[in-house]
Amino acid sequence: MNEYINIIGGGLAGCEAAYQIAKRGIKVKLYEMKPKKFSPAHSNGNLAEIVCSNSFKSNLLTNACGLLKEELRCLDSLLIKTADKVRVPAGQALAVDREMFSKIVTNSIENNKLIEIINKEVISKYDDNEDKKSKNIYLEDLIEDTITIIATGPLTSDSLSIGIKKLTGEDELAFYDAAAPIILKDSIDFNIAFYGDRYNEEKKKDESIEEWINRIKSDKSDYINLPMNKEEYENFIYELINAQVAELHSFEKREIFEGCMPIEIMAKRGIDTLRFGPLKPVGFEDPRTGKRPYAVVQLRQDNVKASLYNLVGFQTNLKYGEQKRVFSMIPGLQNAEFVKYGVMHRNTFINSSILLDNRYNFRKKSNIFFAGQITGVEGYVESISSGLVAGLNATNMVKNSKQIIFSNETMIGALANYISTLNKNFQPMNANFGILPELEGNKIKDKKKKYEELSKRSLEIIKKYYNSEIYLNYE
Ligand SMILES: Cc1cc2nc3c(=O)[nH]c(=O)nc-3n(C[C@H](O)[C@H](O)[C@H](O)COP(=O)(O)OP(=O)(O)OC[C@H]3O[C@@H](n4cnc5c(N)ncnc54)[C@H](O)[C@@H]3O)c2cc1C
Repeated sequence: MNEYINIIGGGLAGCEAAYQIAKRGIKVKLYEMKPKKFSPAHSNGNLAEIVCSNSFKSNLLTNACGLLKEELRCLDSLLIKTADKVRVPAGQALAVDREMFSKIVTNSIENNKLIEIINKEVISKYDDNEDKKSKNIYLEDLIEDTITIIATGPLTSDSLSIGIKKLTGEDELAFYDAAAPIILKDSIDFNIAFYGDRYNEEKKKDESIEEWINRIKSDKSDYINLPMNKEEYENFIYELINAQVAELHSFEKREIFEGCMPIEIMAKRGIDTLRFGPLKPVGFEDPRTGKRPYAVVQLRQDNVKASLYNLVGFQTNLKYGEQKRVFSMIPGLQNAEFVKYGVMHRNTFINSSILLDNRYNFRKKSNIFFAGQITGVEGYVESISSGLVAGLNATNMVKNSKQIIFSNETMIGALANYISTLNKNFQPMNANFGILPELEGNKIKDKKKKYEELSKRSLEIIKKYYNSEIYLNYE
């Protein structure tokens, strides 16, 4: 095994990983295809380009992304420290001057003597369209005998995607994310919602009404159901079809709508389309009325802990604010907390739930790590966090020292754990409090207080890591 580490992709995750590795005295070869080739969303020649919003979201510790950033600050993240330096006014959010941000990160990486930047696209030998020249840099060569981190992001080049597909298996690489919103279970109104799978809910002959209601309420089946009457359904459809949709980038339009139908488009086909599709009430009786509802929205369990549920069939392209407004009209969701909104965008990501472990290490070939959005973490800060974890563990692999697995009680560890836990319906995930284990002892009712306590618990653990020898591991 070579004594240096390859990183493919000089975006947010790749740069964080490079910094962490070089800081610990190991050489890095960083392959970045810009400025020779640009993805459809990248446009400047610098590393760590911010492709869209200039916000790294909230800085508050009562916000999950705020906690993740604070953890990263404690762990000496180059990218979060840089973001803090080039902050622009945005209330409680950490927004940055995007040009200065990329420039400072690029300078830090370029000036690091242990990091060599190679401005070339990494391609695959399995790509029949590529000219096979001796000068090409092939994924298959890089990963043969060198520890390699693949951090090429949601817009990984086509040729490299072919190579990654070969590594992961045909079905384990997705090219767009058409996901439904995810809701915190604790925020659902169970005076309206009931558990149950279709047809299991009918009253048994020998059951009293009370027994029947108790059975339904205590039944922890995979689905939570939200019944609607005619008026509720029709009002909902009206708002859904008139809600504002998010702009798609031109490169996204064709691919997305061919592959998956957003719920708002389906609803426009006719008032009853959803009632005969994902909202069909067949097989259910509403325990409050004893009758079949007019329509039923189903929520499916999204994590092992059963703290998160997704809205079945609700892939959507509505603007986030509109999702909150319109989906909160569904009975039982009036106070719902959305930990992730539905999205429909180009997004290359692997099925980490079977392919990676909680160090972002590839299970099928241990000298490979993945980092960034391609692992199914979603967002700038989340991508940075995975770059840090992959970088640390790749370093320790070269040094033959202990691997670092962050506790599930930290946001950085919980994210790594989420993406690497078996999940039949694996979809990308952002930082949210629903993926952290509950606090021990008394349940705190007040949400803000609870999040403060969860953050406090996490930061105490993170500080211990930072002071521990296995984390520091400097030359
Ligand atoms: C259009 C779009 C908008 C987004 N907006 C937001 C947002 O507003 N907020 C948010 O939090 N998240 C957003 N994201 C999601 C995500 O957080 C960002 O994409 C983030 O930059 C991901 O970091 P990364 O390091 O994984 O990938 P990137 O930052 O994209 O870095 C990957 C790098 O790899 C390079 N590369 C690709 N293929 C190759 C190859 N074959 N060889 C060599 N180099 C290669 C690319 O040029 C790029 O520099 C958005 C994503 C997209 C696609």
